[in-house]
Amino acid sequence: MTDIPAKPPAVPLDQLDGPAHQLHFESILDSVPDAMVVTDEAGIILAFSRAAESLFGYTADEIIGQAVNRLMAGRDRMNHDTYIGNYMRTGHRQIIGKGRVVIAARADGTLFPVDLKIGEARIGDYCLFTAFIRDLSEQQNAERRMQAMQSELAHFSRLSAVGTMASALAHELNQPLTAVANYLEASRDLLDSPDPEIREVLRGALSEAATQAVRAGEIVRKLRSYVSRGEVDARPVRLTALLSDAVALSKVARERADIPVTVTVDPQADRVLADPIQVQQVVINLIRNAMDAMAGQSNARIDIRAARMEAGGLVEVEVCDNGPGLSAEMRDSLFKPFATTKAQGMGLGLSICQTIVEAHGGTIRAVPKTSGGTCFRFTLREDKDKLPT
Ligand code: ADP
Repeated sequence: MTDIPAKPPAVPLDQLDGPAHQLHFESILDSVPDAMVVTDEAGIILAFSRAAESLFGYTADEIIGQAVNRLMAGRDRMNHDTYIGNYMRTGHRQIIGKGRVVIAARADGTLFPVDLKIGEARIGDYCLFTAFIRDLSEQQNAERRMQAMQSELAHFSRLSAVGTMASALAHELNQPLTAVANYLEASRDLLDSPDPEIREVLRGALSEAATQAVRAGEIVRKLRSYVSRGEVDARPVRLTALLSDAVALSKVARERADIPVTVTVDPQADRVLADPIQVQQVVINLIRNAMDAMAGQSNARIDIRAARMEAGGLVEVEVCDNGPGLSAEMRDSLFKPFATTKAQGMGLGLSICQTIVEAHGGTIRAVPKTSGGTCFRFTLREDKDKLPT
């Protein structure tokens, strides 16, 4: 049996000698998770941590001895010397010990937001400043994403407001359609009359019927653009992010939000051309339908998968549940407007999904699962000019 050598006893920090201190300091520079920059009171960089190297794109060797304002941008870059001068003269702290958000500059000139905290150490007559810098670009991206999701959510609630709108729509459409029917019936009765005056009346009635029919068409057109926001703005998007956001949004304010939902995207299928908000609407709708279908089911689960199709430059997305499957009465009319089996349903969800998918140049269909449940599958065009990952 080999003996494990006993560890040397730990040395208390306050008893470290010069070289040991230096080693300790270097180990801090190597391992401190935030970027750390030490400067003297003239703003000259004395130490630059490993994290600072990767954040700013300079090596410690390149930057040590340079003025720290190289790492700053805009007003702070110009005023840095004045800040330090003021502080040294007046002792008035503007940033030291407080921390604030400033714009930093990388070696390649790109600017990015950081949270800057500065500590001060006085050693005899010298004054050292240690700055801890945290990259905020990720956080700001996350906030931007959150805002985008909120606007999508607002759009989604507008979509559910379509339900309410549908009854108003039925009422609106009723008027022009009744008028069309009345004018046409009156015209039929007048057709046989040889009286030229009556023929004039007949002409007027037919043209009135045509106007009313156009009005009805206009109302329907408005509804469609209200729901699908008019034009499709298809652009390259990452399917993984789009689907994960849709899953999160579909759970907002839902009773069955605890149903497990998995998302599996084949890396080959991750880049598609889509209007993300509209395609999210489709996915949210399919998830919510699946949740409704599995109400009260203890083994409920939803699996979302995306894969490239063999031919045609298409990606297929499927949303599968293990619910009771489609009812016989719905099978043929699934995508027709106002076809529903739900007491509170408007039967518009799937017809809107179809409109959106087809506007993207894809198709949508429902496939029963052999093991029970339903898969809704739709296609999107893949983004051929895949960006580097
Ligand atoms: P709504 O949800 O208002 O009924 P939809 O057009 O979204 O309108 O759905 C139409 C009908 O299709 C539903 O009422 C339901 O009967 C059926 N359906 C949709 N998704 C599923 C599913 N995952 N499992 C079983 N039936 C479904």
